[in-house]
Amino acid sequence: MAPGAALGVLGGGQLGRMFVHAAQQMGYATVVLDPDAASPAGAVAHRHIRADYLDPAGLDELAGMAAAVTTEFENVPAAALERLARARPVAPGAAAVAVCQDRLAEKAALQRAGVACAPHAAIASAEQLARVDPALLPGILKTARLGYDGKGQVRVESAAQLAAAWESLGRSACVLERRLDLAAEISVLVTRGADGAVVHFPVQRNVHRDGILAVTRVPADGVDTALQADAIAAATRLAAALDYVGVLCVEFFVLADGSLVANEMAPRPHNSGHYSIDACDVSQFDLQVRALAGAPLVEPRLHSPCVMLNLLGDLWLQGGVAAEPDWAGVLALPGVHLHLYGKAEARAGRKMGHLTVTAADAGGADATARRAAALLG
Ligand code: ADP
Ligand code: MG
Repeated sequence: MAPGAALGVLGGGQLGRMFVHAAQQMGYATVVLDPDAASPAGAVAHRHIRADYLDPAGLDELAGMAAAVTTEFENVPAAALERLARARPVAPGAAAVAVCQDRLAEKAALQRAGVACAPHAAIASAEQLARVDPALLPGILKTARLGYDGKGQVRVESAAQLAAAWESLGRSACVLERRLDLAAEISVLVTRGADGAVVHFPVQRNVHRDGILAVTRVPADGVDTALQADAIAAATRLAAALDYVGVLCVEFFVLADGSLVANEMAPRPHNSGHYSIDACDVSQFDLQVRALAGAPLVEPRLHSPCVMLNLLGDLWLQGGVAAEPDWAGVLALPGVHLHLYGKAEARAGRKMGHLTVTAADAGGADATARRAAALLG
């Protein structure tokens, strides 16, 4: 699909918005399907189809306008992707997205690809609950589906707490994972083309607060380079095993004993890859556009060490008063790239934007990021 064609996106959040920006820069028209009138991607796309993800008329309109369709939202119903795929190329495909929607299917896929994951067990019935292996405690009970940003997770110390947690999660299908001793969290983005070619970004080192990504640093200082190579190889293997087309993110834990364990996958560009817009010569969104359009993939090159800070709604709500953060102060710092997603309402824990700080060296990026964080409070 040459520039000038239209590319479609299911889902209209910030990931869709940044995809639209990248597609438009390359001369593609864009169509977003999202039910929300205030959708961040819908606001910048050439056309915003306001329809439910399963609305046949909306899906057919999207397929009618777009030469190919991607998704920015991993919980998009598989039936929507399947309907679109009957009319247009869809990347990633419904089967790969379905694996990433279910933590149990995801762990099975990791194991099939020979990638280690946390010791775990399915808790989907009272029998499974009664038979649980005590070696999985202390653990984290996670809903198998629809969890994000630490939502749908309960930390449990004992069998009694586990039973109560499963009740609190509505006795839904869950996975219990042993709580691991994390030395670091990292993630890897790979992009695979329809021809099987794979390129990868440098490894990111991530810090989460309250289950939500807070800071990403690249290069992943302090993480053994052989381990980083293992993570890249594992993500590449997973993309091939899933016959994946597009950008795939794999999150890993580095354990205190120096081993590597895969946590979860996202079938799309990822928050921890936003740094690539400002610090790499080709971004995760550029590569998603290329993979979808069947254009050549190139190895990304990090041209500046960087630190990415997520901007959550809490920054607007300090001391109980709604106020705009000190953007002028932040923008006066060198190498700061401000990204705001155009969301009207700030809520605690809501991703409103991010800041990337680039610098000549990692120490400089860190120092500036610390000053930016101090100004933001
Ligand atoms: P989400 O889909 O909400 O991102 P994750 O499974 O990635 O859920 O969990 C969010 C965070 O919780 C992780 O980034 C990590 O900090 C912590 N966490 C999750 N699982 C474990 C585990 N088994 N042991 C220790 N920490 C964990
Ligand atoms: Mg996660």
